[in-house]
Amino acid sequence: MVEQSTIWQAMDAAHHLHPFVDNGALAREGARMVTRAEGVYIWDAEGRQYLDAFAGLWCVNLGYGRPELAEAAARQMNELPYYNLFFKSSNVPAARLAQTLAELAPAHINHVFFTNSGSEANDTVFRMVRYFWALKGHPDKKVIIGRQNGYHGSTVAGASLGGMKSMHRQGGLPVPGVEHIRQPYWYDEGGDLSQDEFGLLAARALEEKILELGADNVAAFIAEPIQGAGGIIIPPSTYWPEIQRIVQKYDVLLVADEVICGFGRTGEWFGCDYFNIHADLMPIAKGLSSGYLPIGGVMVADHIAETLKQAGEEFSHGFTYSGHPVCAAVALENLRILKEERIIEQVRSQTAPYLQMQLQTLADHPLVGQIRGVGMLAAIELVADKHSRRRYDGNGRVGALCRDLALKQGLILRATGDTMLISPPLTITRDEINILVERAGQALDATQ
Ligand code: PLP
Repeated sequence: MVEQSTIWQAMDAAHHLHPFVDNGALAREGARMVTRAEGVYIWDAEGRQYLDAFAGLWCVNLGYGRPELAEAAARQMNELPYYNLFFKSSNVPAARLAQTLAELAPAHINHVFFTNSGSEANDTVFRMVRYFWALKGHPDKKVIIGRQNGYHGSTVAGASLGGMKSMHRQGGLPVPGVEHIRQPYWYDEGGDLSQDEFGLLAARALEEKILELGADNVAAFIAEPIQGAGGIIIPPSTYWPEIQRIVQKYDVLLVADEVICGFGRTGEWFGCDYFNIHADLMPIAKGLSSGYLPIGGVMVADHIAETLKQAGEEFSHGFTYSGHPVCAAVALENLRILKEERIIEQVRSQTAPYLQMQLQTLADHPLVGQIRGVGMLAAIELVADKHSRRRYDGNGRVGALCRDLALKQGLILRATGDTMLISPPLTITRDEINILVERAGQALDATQ
C-alpha cells in the first residue's frame, strides 16, 4: 500500500498544481492520497483512518458513502447526462430542485440562479445586484460592502467581496467598487464591551460606511451569517437586527452568504432562519449536494426576481453547467434524505447540543482562550494567556502544530491562525463526538 501511495504521490507532485498551498513544499512532502470514505471517516492510500471533523471543506453534511446519491447520479447520467438548448431549455432535476429550494427557503425567496460553486454564486451576486439597481433606475448604486476577514470565494469577484488580506495580496484585489467594514469578532475586538454592546458597535460600522459613501452609491452588503473561514465568528445577538435596520433604512440589498451555514449546519435549514435575517439574496453551495458533485446557486427574493423577469432583455450572465441535470439530481436526493431522515431536527435537538457540551469540557485547558459554537460549527481559540486573551505571535504556528498533532491522533481539524475549527458531517453520532473530543483533547495536550 505504501509503495502504491508513493507512486500516486509522485504522479501528483509532477503534474498537479493544488489550490491554496505552497506547491513546491507540497510536491516535496507528497500530497496525502485519500482513497475511501464512509460515514464520518476517511482513509488514505496507506490505510490510515481519520475522523473527518471538517466534513471535507464544510460540505459533506450527509456524511460519506450514501449509495442513494451515487444511484441518483447514475440514473440521471443514463437518462440525460447534459443538455442545454442555448439557455432556453431546462431539465427535470433542475426544475424540481428549484421548486424544492423555494419551499425550503424563507417565504419571500422563490427563485434560484444555478452555478457550479460558491465562488460563482458570489460572482453572480456581484453582477446581479448592480444590474438590479440599474433596472430600478439607480445605476450609481454600485458599491458592495463586505467585511474584513469575510470569505466569499476565490474568483475575482468572490475574493474581492471577501475581506482576507491574503486573498487580496496576489492579483491586485479587491476590484474597484468594493469596501469592507469590521467583523463582529467580540472575543478579539470587544475589549471591555459586553457582547451586546459590541454587536451594535460592529453593526453600526455599516451605517458609517454607507454615510461615508452616500447611500445612493451603495448597492448591497454581503456577509456570512456566521463567518466561517475567518474563524467561526458568531455575531452577538444584537448584530443582525441592527444590520437589518440599517440596510432597510438606506435601501441597501442584504446578501447572506449561506455557502457554509445553509442546509443544516446551524441546526436550521439556513443561517437566515437561525438569526431571523431577511435577506434579498442567498448564495448557496457545499451542503446543497453534500459535496458529492459541484453545484451552487443564488437564491433570489421575489422583488429582485420579478425585476429581472420584467427587464425585457437578457441578463448576460451564466455558465455552461448552470442547472446541470446530474448535479441537480444528486442535490435533490441529498435534500430528500436530509428532510426524510429529519437530520437537521436531530442536529438541533440532539447532536449539536451534545457536541457543544462535550467541547466545553476542553475549555479549562491552559491553551484554550474560548470555545464557541452554533449547531455543527465550533471553534477552539488557542491563546498564549487565557486570562488576558494574549495571542501568540500571529503566524499561526501553534494552530498548525495542533492541527498536525490531531492528524497524528486520527482527527482532521482545520486551523485558521491559532483557532481550531470544527464542522463535522451533520450525521455524526454521540459516540463519534466522544472520539472527536477525546482526540482533540489529546492534540491540545501534545501541543503544550
Ligand atoms: N462563500 C463562503 C461563505 C465559503 O465558505 C466559500 C468556500 O469556502 C465560498 C463562498 C466559495 O465556495 P467555493 O469554494 O465552492 O467556490
